[in-house]
Amino acid sequence: MSLVLCCRDAMTRLTEGSEGALAGAEGATFALHLTICARCKAYRTQLETTVGVLRAMPREESETEDVEAILRLLGDTDAEPRG
Ligand SMILES: [Zn+2]
Repeated sequence: MSLVLCCRDAMTRLTEGSEGALAGAEGATFALHLTICARCKAYRTQLETTVGVLRAMPREESETEDVEAILRLLGDTDAEPRG
C-alpha cells in the first residue's frame, strides 16, 4: 500500500468519508494527503462548507446524493465520475 494518496483517491475519500469515518492506515494516508496537498485541503474546506449549507436546509433527500450532485456541479477538479 502506498503512503501517498493521489488527489483523485483523496477526493473520492472526501465524498465518502467527510464525516471522519475513515479509520486505520487508510484514514492516516488520507489525513497525510490533506496535510501536504493544498489543493485537496481547499477542496475539503469547500466541501465542508457545502455540506454545512445543505444541512441548514430543510431537505428530505439523502445528504450523500446532494453532495455528489454538487461535486458534479463544481466540476473544477480532476475527480472522475464513479461507477
Ligand atoms: Zn491532493
